[in-house]
Amino acid sequence: MQQKNMLDMSEQDLKEIVSGLGYPEYRCNQIFNWLYKGTAHFGDMKNLPRQLIDRLEENYVTGIPEILKKQVSRLDGTTKYLVKYRDGSIVECVHLTYQFGRTVCVSSQVGCRMSCTFCASTKGGLVRNLSAGEMLAQVLVVQRDMKKRISNVVIMGSGEPLDNYENVIRFVRILGNKEGLNIGLRHVTLSTCGLVSEIKRLAEQGLPITLSVSLHAADDETRRYLMPVAKKYKIEEVLDSCRYYIERTGRKITFEYALVEGVNDSHEDAAKLASILRGMLCNVNLIPVNPVEGSGYNQPEAGKVRRFKKILADRGVSVTVRREMGRDIGGACGQLKAGYIKGEKV
Ligand code: SAH
Repeated sequence: MQQKNMLDMSEQDLKEIVSGLGYPEYRCNQIFNWLYKGTAHFGDMKNLPRQLIDRLEENYVTGIPEILKKQVSRLDGTTKYLVKYRDGSIVECVHLTYQFGRTVCVSSQVGCRMSCTFCASTKGGLVRNLSAGEMLAQVLVVQRDMKKRISNVVIMGSGEPLDNYENVIRFVRILGNKEGLNIGLRHVTLSTCGLVSEIKRLAEQGLPITLSVSLHAADDETRRYLMPVAKKYKIEEVLDSCRYYIERTGRKITFEYALVEGVNDSHEDAAKLASILRGMLCNVNLIPVNPVEGSGYNQPEAGKVRRFKKILADRGVSVTVRREMGRDIGGACGQLKAGYIKGEKV
């Protein structure tokens, strides 16, 4: 029998396990506390009796993954972690410090099947979905390593979160658990490549999270060139689902727009973007593309980024340029894992 992952259990499940093994309820709280400290081995849960530890080890694993690599930016302290789950799957998660607090960028899948042409995480396709507990474990591992409370979570690592819908929703709810991490859901951001039916489904959940939609183009042809998912959904359908989301939740949407030199960075692109977004409760986040090996894509020069921004701003669209974090460690975007797999020293 395969050992079960403790972090995938609800509090009620954990209570039943502990009482089933003949132990009082307070043992459950102790285990819970250790898990939330990111303790990887039952043997390190110092206030548990040896017999209980043995029984737990027989049937369960903590679900806390091993840190394989850690890379710290000298520029801004951004820290990338490569973590390994017990089946050998590897994902990246990133810790970023902003004025408003500490953020963990979480991966939702091992690999990804969306095949965006500029993205390093999708190169090998989808390996598997991560469970809610496996996503939670990324936050716990980083929090343990940083020894500081994590206040924000962005689901922007490898994977398409809405392609792993049930587990991601469960994970988001766990983040908000008062007895656990107690992260206000307003401090949680979910980034999607724009899966229309799932955006509508998400709108019904009543979760006050921030939705971030990767648009990356103002016309369907360019979007199809950058993102194969655009063959399934037209921009107009994506924007309709976003309008529905805004109407149901009252929340502003962020549109991510990776600026790629010569592909989507012209004056016309900016004007078109402004016209399709006009009047929407949204913010555009411009991201000079992070050149990943083999993509052939480059960032536009800084002046062009500024001009693109100004065109949007002049037309009444709220716009920011993403501050680049961890530039010296390849930015975010799956490159630590890509390098590791190729056997580079990182
Ligand atoms: N699948 C989700 C979340 C993961 S990617 C999504 O598509 O939104 C998180 C963000 O990083 C997305 O906006 C994605 O388009 C962007 N991204 C991926 N690779 C990038 C790169 N090389 N440069 C800039 N942004 C990139």
